[in-house]
Amino acid sequence: MPYLNLDDEFTEHPKVDGLSDGAFRLHVSGMRYCAKNTTDGAIPASRVDRLKPKFKAPELRELLRCNVWHEGGEGCNTESCIKGEDGEYVVHDYLQWNKSAAWWEKRRHDEAERKAEWRRKQAEKEAS
Ligand SMILES: [Zn+2]
Repeated sequence: MPYLNLDDEFTEHPKVDGLSDGAFRLHVSGMRYCAKNTTDGAIPASRVDRLKPKFKAPELRELLRCNVWHEGGEGCNTESCIKGEDGEYVVHDYLQWNKSAAWWEKRRHDEAERKAEWRRKQAEKEAS
């Protein structure tokens, strides 16, 4: 099951430390959404106002102004930040700290194979 990885100095990062409480909560909720849905950092614009209770548009604008999030399609030309598409927002450098959707898919596949192999061996033991 995918999880969100937060560095223990996350709250002290200069980009995060200066955020308002509302923007901070929107940011964390957005990252949680990305982890749960393995989006590599993309958040549908249509989903943003439901990421936290009492969403306020200025909180979203604050994240964009502070380059904590980007407008989809803009990107920032780092390897750990996807470009995204129109109609999305992108969490800056999400993939610097979190596994990609491809990584999670490979892990799910590898675990399924490992479990199938274990079951096959158990069935062989029981048959002999
Ligand atoms: Zn970025």
